[in-house]
Amino acid sequence: MSKIIAINAGSSSLKFKLFEMNTEQVLAQGLFDRIGLAQGAIKIKYGADEEFKTNEEIKDHSYAVKRLLGLMLNLEIIHEFSEIKGVGHRVVAGGEYFKRSVAINSKVIRKINSLAEYAPIHNPANLMGIKAFKNILPTATAVAVFDTSFHQTMPKENYIFSVPYEWYQKYGVRRYGAHGTSHRYVADVAASMLKRPLKELKLISCHLGAGASICAIKNGKSFDTSMGFTPLTGITMATRSGDTDVAMIAFMMQKLDMHSMPEAIYDLNKKSGLLGISGVSSDMRDVMEESTTNFRAQLAVDIFVKDIVKYIGSYTAEMGGVDGIIFTAGIGENSAEIRSAVLKRLSYMGIEVDEEKNLLRGENIVISTSSSKVKAFVIPTDEELMIARDVDKIMKKKNVKSAKLV
Ligand code: ADP
Repeated sequence: MSKIIAINAGSSSLKFKLFEMNTEQVLAQGLFDRIGLAQGAIKIKYGADEEFKTNEEIKDHSYAVKRLLGLMLNLEIIHEFSEIKGVGHRVVAGGEYFKRSVAINSKVIRKINSLAEYAPIHNPANLMGIKAFKNILPTATAVAVFDTSFHQTMPKENYIFSVPYEWYQKYGVRRYGAHGTSHRYVADVAASMLKRPLKELKLISCHLGAGASICAIKNGKSFDTSMGFTPLTGITMATRSGDTDVAMIAFMMQKLDMHSMPEAIYDLNKKSGLLGISGVSSDMRDVMEESTTNFRAQLAVDIFVKDIVKYIGSYTAEMGGVDGIIFTAGIGENSAEIRSAVLKRLSYMGIEVDEEKNLLRGENIVISTSSSKVKAFVIPTDEELMIARDVDKIMKKKNVKSAKLV
């Protein structure tokens, strides 16, 4: 029996999923929220359908991890700490250094720290999670799984921006992308549904959550992706602008009497996207509900759909064709209406939607007709399972020892 826990540590939260790896069964999952604030919240789902919930102060990440493991014993999810053989940590920025998931040692810690300038909020939070687990489970194999590493296979023409080349050479300015673990997971599932080797396929994965990105996956490798140096670019998102003209920022800084660039970028990150266009909400459900009576809400939906259609078209051209289009994450998994609107506009590619199948809910569904030239899928993403699988693979490799941290 080998238990592996997947961890996603944010600046004030810690999400986890505990797996029994032999069967990939989820034993427990939950969230420690509002860490470091007066009233924290803990929620753990476990067993057949049981739930533990409480509100209490969660001082810091170290306390959260101690409390989590203590609760796991109390709730009899585990009987001793040593049952957890591996810990997988999501890390946001891996730069060009981390091309795949790695066992964590002191050098890896230092490198993640030095990459914090690319993800100033996330990497330090990810490190807090790593250190807290290492203190309490010193012998478990700790593995870092990076959002960016899947995209390290992109050809240069797809990751170099059309700016002075020295910016890349001296400062590492390039397209890094994001959601790599999700795109990698759904591509694997689509290949097994098609019963064809991933290495032979051209796929386009649409991860449509609050943050959204599209990824062209050619022969099993990320070939191009819509997020860029940061997650701000690509399609319009809940509150992020997606692609836009940066010269507009200088213009608006003058108009709005903004004094700093970060202030302007804040508006592009937090006040734009569905929220900025509709003026209603950043949540797609609210925006769609309003869309019949509010033209700005309808416009937000139309722009979202158009952006997806535009990226699918350009990635199909870049790859020289496409075998399958995958929808995942909150909007991709739940909105038949958005999927149908996108796929109808792609009928020129020979895509035919099966509207009845498109309305089905559940795991891993093909929503195109049997005669459709390109297959369309709904595949619920599972980044935590992908993280746990990476830990499992690394643990099975020889000579991986749990290094002591300094
Ligand atoms: P995050 O990026 O925070 O993980 P999610 O993947 O949970 O986001 O996606 C959140 C988005 O999914 C929200 O915009 C929400 O409105 C949208 N969503 C969830 N269910 C539906 C639905 N039935 N129809 C349309 N949008 C939905």
